[in-house]
Amino acid sequence: MEHYHIDTECIHAGYEPGNGEPRVLPIVQSTTFKYSNAETLGRLFDLKSDGFFYTRLGNPTLDAVEKKIAALEGGVGALLTASGQAASMIAVFNICRAGGHVVCCNAIYGGTFNLFYKTMHEMGIDFTFVSADATEEELNAAFQPNTRCVFAETLTNPSLIVTDLELFSKVAHAHEVPIIVDNTFPTPINCRPFEFGADIVTHSTSKYMDGHAVQLGGVVVDSGRFNWDNGKFPELTEPDESYHGVVYTRQFGKAAYIMKARTHLMRDLGAQASPCNAFLLNLGLETLALRMERHCKNALTAAEYLEKNDKIAWVNYPGLKSNKYYALAKKYMPNGTSGVISFGVKGGREAAAKFMGGLKLASIVVHVADLRTSVLHPASTTHRQLSDEQLAQAGIGADMVRMSVGIENIDDILADIDQALAGL
Ligand SMILES: *Cc1c(COP(=O)(O)O)cnc(C)c1O
Repeated sequence: MEHYHIDTECIHAGYEPGNGEPRVLPIVQSTTFKYSNAETLGRLFDLKSDGFFYTRLGNPTLDAVEKKIAALEGGVGALLTASGQAASMIAVFNICRAGGHVVCCNAIYGGTFNLFYKTMHEMGIDFTFVSADATEEELNAAFQPNTRCVFAETLTNPSLIVTDLELFSKVAHAHEVPIIVDNTFPTPINCRPFEFGADIVTHSTSKYMDGHAVQLGGVVVDSGRFNWDNGKFPELTEPDESYHGVVYTRQFGKAAYIMKARTHLMRDLGAQASPCNAFLLNLGLETLALRMERHCKNALTAAEYLEKNDKIAWVNYPGLKSNKYYALAKKYMPNGTSGVISFGVKGGREAAAKFMGGLKLASIVVHVADLRTSVLHPASTTHRQLSDEQLAQAGIGADMVRMSVGIENIDDILADIDQALAGL
């Protein structure tokens, strides 16, 4: 397919119907695929020819959406997974086995932190957590001889820190390891991490990519640019006996990493996305560029409005000139960061909870990044067991409200905030 602008690719990349075929990407809701002789199937199993045989390893609906996301990020291939959690797990485990070590930003999403800190640690992988604001020296100090990758988020959830991608990538590459970047919040519409040195990108597609809160999913995207032949990644450069002795770098060249993720890890772990979910995700992707533009515009207006309100103690949004990460946001996400903002309501925990209760349009949900404005008060929900002191240690003020600004008319969103604040 020709290269178009990214908003055009959102609509057209990945699926090109032939003569008389469905205009809209079909849902191929089939676990398996029929062949007229065993030899053809055998060649598929041996990875000697392209085609589908079992949905755990590939499916036409998933394939089209994978190609679309790879095009949006500018990668050589992608793998859809059942959730963002599965994407993070596969992205790291693909190149880091027991005995390995990962340098990881400490401000990453809580679910990813638990996956690494507890589950993958129990599997024998060590993590060193570094500050998102770490200097080059501090980053260098975190590396060990067994370090196999760096993991970070472009825009952290929920603290909204903009990671200095060029610095993190430079340090990872100086140690001859790839950097994996979770790009869930900005999406490729606002940031394409491969352009700043990232080697692998992951997403929770449950967020903006879907955008309607109808499916749970994830994706791993391979830039195809990392040189695996440096002696640190035998799983890619030496024969895999569980797959007829295939050497991934030899057989798949630039797509070695993503092909191994599919043929080895997806085969064994089975965290596959469903064709129906991939279809829903594709519908979301078609309008992603349009929605991101509106989310960012609304979020900036809401943030500026809140910043001027005397019932509000503080506002955190990297698009605000007053924000600590404004310069980094302008560098890496010049068109906007995301629709998520956070702010403190004067009067602490009680005032924040009362404000939330007073909202009529915005709904209280444990989710971000869909087209409906939604809010969460961590202190009285996800983190309610913590004291004010413990909350402060976790970097979450008792007064903090996280708002995922939707794409409704901004005047209705502001009027809702206004009437809820008036009730305090
Ligand atoms: C939600 C989220 C995840 C986890 O994704 P699920 O689809 O919920 O499994 C990972 N990273 C980030 C940044 C997220 O916001």
